[in-house]
Amino acid sequence: MSKSERCPICGAPTVPAERPFCSDRCRHVDLHRWLTEGYRLPAQEDESEQPDPEQ
Ligand SMILES: [Zn+2]
Repeated sequence: MSKSERCPICGAPTVPAERPFCSDRCRHVDLHRWLTEGYRLPAQEDESEQPDPEQ
């Protein structure tokens, strides 16, 4: 049974070694996309609220 998967990047048939992509290039494209999307997310705000006891 050979189920033909398709590369989510370019739509070409995937290669077992590069699943779920068809090539190393598409793998990098997807990774780049993922990273780009990730950078849009707001960074975790490291605000440690320490109420001033002097006030
Ligand atoms: Zn591809």
